[in-house]
Amino acid sequence: MAPDPPKIRVIVRKRPLNRKEEERGDSDVLECDCATSTLYVNEPKQKVDLTKFTERHTFRFDDVFGEDVDNDALYCTAIQPLISTIFRRGKATCFAYGQTGSGKTYTMQPLPLRAAVDVLSVLSTPDFHGVGLHVSCYEIYGGKLFDLLNARNKLEVREDGKRRVQVVGLREVDVHDVDVLQQLVEHAAASRSTGSTGANDESSRSHSIMVFALRNGNEPKRPVVGKLTFIDLAGSERGADTYDNDKQTRLEGAEINKSLLALKECIRALDSDARHIPFRGSKLTEVLRDSFMGKAARTVMIANVSPSLLLLRAHAEHPALRRSSQ
Ligand code: ADP
Ligand code: MG
Repeated sequence: MAPDPPKIRVIVRKRPLNRKEEERGDSDVLECDCATSTLYVNEPKQKVDLTKFTERHTFRFDDVFGEDVDNDALYCTAIQPLISTIFRRGKATCFAYGQTGSGKTYTMQPLPLRAAVDVLSVLSTPDFHGVGLHVSCYEIYGGKLFDLLNARNKLEVREDGKRRVQVVGLREVDVHDVDVLQQLVEHAAASRSTGSTGANDESSRSHSIMVFALRNGNEPKRPVVGKLTFIDLAGSERGADTYDNDKQTRLEGAEINKSLLALKECIRALDSDARHIPFRGSKLTEVLRDSFMGKAARTVMIANVSPSLLLLRAHAEHPALRRSSQ
């Protein structure tokens, strides 16, 4: 089996400029150096005397993927190593983090399908006779959980006697082939929240979570022997909606802010081997506690970034960002 991946791996993925951005004369400010895993942000600026210059900011990650890296290559490099983790009875979690429009869903949606091919192929070997793949999918919206495979049923989070976090009532589907999973992925995508505020993309206000549970036996109550979780996070700019005039949007923004902050704190604590991990900071981190704990837990964080100069400027001017940089 492949070597075990590192405990936490942070990857940045740049998407290309799209046609609309090109047509409006936008420019690409991101430069990826895959060899040194470095991302450069080249920001054109103007001095008071109107001379132009470029300010260059440098960021290092575990991996940097440019627009030439397709979903297949991303899967093979970043996600496939996690398959060995779950067959070692470990828990693996993969996130897509970034602003709305940065490519989170584009990155995340095909990953479970690719992973299922590998998982089902291992499960077909005699060593894993009796182990099954059980798939569930839910959304965290405004701090509440909804089942995306069961008519948006509202779900509760509870701790059992052994301090294990359980999502009560969540529908799990036994998956034997990729076609079934394809249907589940489509069903879940169609079930994601649609709000009434007329904002461009309502799904960007919720975290969408798909779970692969390996269970010994075919009953949903059997113990999980490995778990792989895929999370398409709410748009990272949505936390700034706390400044919006609409009350509902403001509440959602506050909730998103809270959960992304709690996630950052948990990852930071895990990375520094801290003894206390602040899981109780939000619903999102509460349900992930079980996946983050233990020596065999592995996390891949994909930070999706847009190359657009105009977007970079728009966000630098955002009231929430101005405040936090003061
Ligand atoms: P998000 O989920 O972060 O809001 P999307 O995944 O919906 O963003 O991506 C926004 C748009 O950019 C979509 O039209 C998507 O097809 C396109 N896109 C995103 N990433 C890439 C990429 N790596 N290559 C080509 N197109 C991309
Ligand atoms: Mg999306």
